[in-house]
Amino acid sequence: MEKEIVMSGIRPTGYLHLGNYFGAVRNYVRMQEAYSCFFMVADLHSLTTHPDTRELKTNVQRVLAENIACGLDPEKATLYCQSHVFETSELYLYLNMLAYKGELEKTVTFKEKVRQHPENVNAGLLTYPVLQTADIILHRASYVPVGKDQEQHLEMARNFANRFNHRYGDVFPEPKAFNFGEELVKVPSLDGTGKMSKSENQNATLYLNDSDDQIRNKLKKAKTDSGPTEPGTPKPDYIENLFSLMSLVSDESTVQHFETAYNDCTIRYGDMKKQLGEDMVKFISPIREKAEVIQHDQAYLKQIMEMGAEKARKSARETMQIVREVMGLNYF
Ligand code: ADP
Repeated sequence: MEKEIVMSGIRPTGYLHLGNYFGAVRNYVRMQEAYSCFFMVADLHSLTTHPDTRELKTNVQRVLAENIACGLDPEKATLYCQSHVFETSELYLYLNMLAYKGELEKTVTFKEKVRQHPENVNAGLLTYPVLQTADIILHRASYVPVGKDQEQHLEMARNFANRFNHRYGDVFPEPKAFNFGEELVKVPSLDGTGKMSKSENQNATLYLNDSDDQIRNKLKKAKTDSGPTEPGTPKPDYIENLFSLMSLVSDESTVQHFETAYNDCTIRYGDMKKQLGEDMVKFISPIREKAEVIQHDQAYLKQIMEMGAEKARKSARETMQIVREVMGLNYF
């Protein structure tokens, strides 16, 4: 039986963080055996907000290295760089004719970016969900492992794919956001405002590249309060967040210990953050160390990128031949 197709990407706009890991990369690793996977470094997407390309090469290499350090095997999954697959741009062009200004302007991430950078509201930013759709459906993918922040983009991808199918013929499966049947993940920032992110909220985001001391210090400063005074008090968001981070990286018995302490109002958040700091260091430091080694191996990274580009282009060429055919763009 043919394996089902999976596609996802990460922008090379900084160091990967816990949100990227638990929202995306962890599932990449879990899916690489059973599915036919395409994972890319979304360098074209990064140009919508980061037009300065001086750091791009280093950032692309870092994202590749960090993905591999997290357990992605480039022999199993196709790991490639978006700009190496020219067919993406062609499909993006066709899909742009099926995407309407009104719906693009309503996209939450677009409105956020306009607020953050009113001086750079470029057309690429507006059509970001169209390019993302092109990336996904170029491989005729059915599943897209992503974090919660991508839910609306995936809904738009389904709309664009359906619109194409309706107008020109049934070429694309409907791509679905995927987290093994669970709710999509959102890893909030440590200060209780927004999500962990590569370029914003840096002091409240845990990066896979943070040193042991940075990890401990960031957790020490994470927002808490004086603790519950009555049993059965619901946890405020920022406390819930510490518990969910703990459930990601600590033993069940540790989580249970602090749950009990919360419930009987004896919890000391200082102790909890200290324990979480140690467990987080145990989780992050091997990834950081592995990524550092891979990132300095230029020959290996070049080989990975070439191998990935070749496999991704093959899949893209096959799809685009069908696309041109159904669109009636085959004149000889
Ligand atoms: P960032 O927002 O950090 O720049 P990207 O836009 O490159 O990250 O997203 C890469 C992947 O990581 C996407 O699947 C996205 O949903 C996921 N992701 C990013 N931040 C978080 C977060 N805080 N929690 C869960 N998933 C996240």
